[in-house]
Amino acid sequence: MKRFLFSLALVAASAMMAIAQPFVRTNSATPKIQFPDIPGFHTLVADLHTHSVFSDASVWPTVRVEEALAEGLDVISMTDHVEYHPFKKYIPEDNLASTELILNAAKNKPLIMIPGGEISATSDHFNALFINNQNDTVLKNKTPSIRIKAAKDQGGFVFWNHPGWTSRAKDGNAPVDEGFYQLMEQGQINGIEICNGDEFWPETLVLAQRYHLTLLGNSDIHGVSHYAYTPDRHRTVTLIFAKEKTPESVREALENQRTIVYCGNYLVGTPDLLTQLLTASLQVSLPVVIH
Ligand SMILES: [Zn+2]
Ligand SMILES: [Zn+2]
Repeated sequence: MKRFLFSLALVAASAMMAIAQPFVRTNSATPKIQFPDIPGFHTLVADLHTHSVFSDASVWPTVRVEEALAEGLDVISMTDHVEYHPFKKYIPEDNLASTELILNAAKNKPLIMIPGGEISATSDHFNALFINNQNDTVLKNKTPSIRIKAAKDQGGFVFWNHPGWTSRAKDGNAPVDEGFYQLMEQGQINGIEICNGDEFWPETLVLAQRYHLTLLGNSDIHGVSHYAYTPDRHRTVTLIFAKEKTPESVREALENQRTIVYCGNYLVGTPDLLTQLLTASLQVSLPVVIH
């Protein structure tokens, strides 16, 4: 069995800056997130869980493109809830609209847009990436396994969102419904959000290790990023190690679990990837000697 141990790089903010220098200050208040490439792979900064006014957020979809570029992201996915439309009096209930708008806005920009949707008809939420018909009514089914199957039938990559949310986990631990073990065993669930926003659930690493789930950390942003992120508080992102800067390579990397989650002052991933990233982040220089 593939060695799949996890390490937590518990690094204080000041040390993090010294080692990886992930932030580069720009004219705006929000610094860019930057990490170096590792041998053989591009390090892509990704947020695979965002929302717009087409579900329950407060911004127009194209704003997510501007925010992503300002923060140095390489990959985003617009994952509006497919069954939840609190603004339907004003905004059409069309789950394809936000994807279409954001795809057009990202055209000719250095940003990879992954089509997706949040399938959240019950308190168990999942994101389905790489799907092409977010209006499929089966995605709204109240039985998680049925809506997950509908996403998989569209060729979706499905991950479990915020498994430790207090709405479903009163003690902060992620309870696993019986059927979920089967879904994970069958490969119907491909990944898990170990971090969502500022929340981190270390116990989810056990599930990830046991079922070979891809580690993900995303913002789940509903508001305006400029107000949410400051030089002291960055967006939670997933670092994806991709062979090429293409959607296909992003998918290949996700399917082969080549990710590290950057959440608060934590970098979470396999020892192998963490070692490669931290090594690539080091700069060694000789001291200047004044004669
Ligand atoms: Zn959710
Ligand atoms: Zn969400």
